[in-house]
Amino acid sequence: MESVVAQLALPENWTSHDFVHAVQTARERRMLVLPLPATAAVGLCGVWFAAAHADVVFHRPSADPVIRRHTLSHECGHMLFDHGSDTRLTPDEVATFLTGIDLEAHGLEPSDFRAGRGLTDYDDPAEHEAEVFATMIATRVTPADARKRDRLLRAF
Ligand SMILES: [Zn+2]
Repeated sequence: MESVVAQLALPENWTSHDFVHAVQTARERRMLVLPLPATAAVGLCGVWFAAAHADVVFHRPSADPVIRRHTLSHECGHMLFDHGSDTRLTPDEVATFLTGIDLEAHGLEPSDFRAGRGLTDYDDPAEHEAEVFATMIATRVTPADARKRDRLLRAF
C-alpha cells in the first residue's frame, strides 16, 4: 500500500485537484468527479464507476474539505487496488442510479458504465482496504497542513 501512495507522488499540501491529477496519471485514465444525484441513498458518501475510457466518482457534496478528500481518496483506493469488479451491481441498478444525470455533457454514455463500487454493502475486505488507504492519505496531509498553519500564524 505504501508503494501505491508513493507512486502518486503527491505534493505537500495537496488539494483534491492535485489528487485527481495524480490518480489520472497513475491509471492513465481520465477521471470525472461529480456530485451524487439527489436520488442517491442517504447513507452513501461516494460511488466509483469504471466507464470504458474514464473513471467517474460521484461524491456527496460537502462544505468540509476533509470529508471531500476522504470520500475521494476512498473511491480512488478502490480504483488503485483494482476493486472494480463488483458483479453484484446489476446493469439495472447502474441505470437507476444514473437516471437524470446528463452523461452526454461529460462525453459519456450509459453503456460505458461497466463496474461500480459503493452501492452495495460495506462489510467487505475491499471496503476496509479503501478506508485504510484514505486514512493513510489523510494522515500524510495532516503534518504539512499543521506546518502551513503554523507558518501562517507566525506571519502575523
Ligand atoms: Zn467503498
